[in-house]
Amino acid sequence: MGVADNGVVRGGQAVPDLLVAGAGVAGLWLTLKAARAGLSVMLVDPGTPGCGASGGFLGALMPHSPERWNGKKDFQFRALVDLEDEVARLESETGTRCGYRRVGRILPLTSERGRSAAIDQIAEARTNWGAGFSQEVSHAPVRSGWPDMLRAPHGVVHETLSARLSPPGLLGALLASLAVMPNVDLRVGTAVMDVTPGEHKARLSDGSVVTYGHIALASGVGAFPLIARAAGLPAGALGGGVKGQAALLDAEASPDLPLVYHDGVYVLVHDNGHVAVGSTSERDYDDPVSTDTQLDEIVARARKLCPVLKHAPVLRRWAGVRPRAIGRDPMLGPVPGAPGVLAMAGGFKISFGIAHRMADCVVAEVTGTKGPEMPHSFSVEYHAAKAAGKTVTG
Ligand SMILES: Cc1cc2nc3c(=O)[nH]c(=O)nc-3n(C[C@H](O)[C@H](O)[C@H](O)COP(=O)(O)OP(=O)(O)OC[C@H]3O[C@@H](n4cnc5c(N)ncnc54)[C@H](O)[C@@H]3O)c2cc1C
Repeated sequence: MGVADNGVVRGGQAVPDLLVAGAGVAGLWLTLKAARAGLSVMLVDPGTPGCGASGGFLGALMPHSPERWNGKKDFQFRALVDLEDEVARLESETGTRCGYRRVGRILPLTSERGRSAAIDQIAEARTNWGAGFSQEVSHAPVRSGWPDMLRAPHGVVHETLSARLSPPGLLGALLASLAVMPNVDLRVGTAVMDVTPGEHKARLSDGSVVTYGHIALASGVGAFPLIARAAGLPAGALGGGVKGQAALLDAEASPDLPLVYHDGVYVLVHDNGHVAVGSTSERDYDDPVSTDTQLDEIVARARKLCPVLKHAPVLRRWAGVRPRAIGRDPMLGPVPGAPGVLAMAGGFKISFGIAHRMADCVVAEVTGTKGPEMPHSFSVEYHAAKAAGKTVTG
């Protein structure tokens, strides 16, 4: 058996410092950050990398609103700021483009109330985002028809913090980086079936049992039952999935156009001019990967919002299931009562903007170093209290 450069060998078996379950955006960033920190990492996935919710094409990186600032908003803000450099490093190391651009975002205003709330947020944005980014309210579109101002009778909010990336581009770059790291062992077609925390052992779907230093459960919607079981809770206690459908349109739009977001509809232009449009939010669904008339409605609304899309042919339709934790915030860090077991799940609608920072928190936990500050509302303990119906404060 090949043993990683810095891997420990016990009883003839390589013992990874970190076993990562799940090769979506969460597990791939975690594997990269852990490997860069010198840990030996085994990454397993029952499918192929990106076969879960990360396999779409939207890639919107949008901040929470700047008012009522809290730990979650601060965590996401810092992550969105850092991601630009993180992507630049990844691109220069691998020569692979991630399709990242900080294009900002437009939000049409449809009521006077919304307009005055947006004006109130301008100062909050200045305070909480600092001088580098701004939020303004105006009566003009950024570019003719982007968006249609008939859909914005009270003007538009324009903020400059939002960005977008190409999910397949980012995943490709992460994989290219991992491919040349001697301390990474990627096993596709292999799932984590059970974790025995007391013994630091996990049983894999190929029948093998891996002894690990730590295990990180980063398996998207599939992480919740594993985390719950390790914490001694019922399988469905800590979270579940919310299905989303999206479409990719052949619009030949300008790639410097800002994201447009209105009433649950996102429109964003990728580097090649293709326009991604999303998304439904479905708690009840029979088939997690099929698309239907709910997506047709989203596309129709996007065409009205941005007339440039009026006749753009649909290139792809796609659906996936977002991991949503019981307490709504991401679920990160030690699993109570399960030594060596770490959660990294529940990124819900913002995973692409925060996964690299979530990974830093997990690596700090494994290495015993100081990582980014993590809000209490991200902890498994917090989510478990929510599951038990207790009142908790973030
Ligand atoms: C339509 C749609 C649009 C979206 N748009 C955006 C957006 O614009 N911006 C944004 O930030 N987010 C967006 N999201 C959300 C984002 O895609 C998810 O939050 C993110 O992909 C979750 O990443 P993950 O790595 O946690 O999970 P996943 O990508 O689901 O990866 C989990 C992996 O774990 C594997 N796995 C499952 N069980 C096991 C097991 N037992 N052992 C080992 N591995 C296992 C799976 O095969 C999978 O590959 C969108 C989601 C959807 C559906």
